[in-house]
Amino acid sequence: MFCKSCGAQIDEGQTVCPNCGTPVQPDQPVPQPVQPQQPVHQPNKMAVNGLVLGCISIAFAVISWFVLWWLSVAAIVMGIVGTVLSAVGLSRSNHMQGSGKGAAIGGLVTSILAVVVAIIALIVLFTVLAAALS
Ligand SMILES: [Zn+2]
Repeated sequence: MFCKSCGAQIDEGQTVCPNCGTPVQPDQPVPQPVQPQQPVHQPNKMAVNGLVLGCISIAFAVISWFVLWWLSVAAIVMGIVGTVLSAVGLSRSNHMQGSGKGAAIGGLVTSILAVVVAIIALIVLFTVLAAALS
């Protein structure tokens, strides 16, 4: 057997390493880390996609207020898709030990918010347009 500290060979029966003086410990079975019965950790892609879409659509919705009105249409479409993806991701996270739950909830919030902001942007736009045309 060999010293665990310095690697020197130690005769059986010795209690201390002759090289470095480290107390010799009898060979112990190395405890195997218990593998929890968990499926391989997969990120909840649906929830993450929903969150990403929600963030992009909310950015579009905000930008549409200032620059490009048609971005609000894109924001509404993406926000609806983001809402659906996040809702699916949320239901999946319940089957995946809560994986992606935060992302799914964040995706729901941002997606719905983006749709609301974009719709308000469109309403404001058409109100302004109607006022300008009358
Ligand atoms: Zn040693």
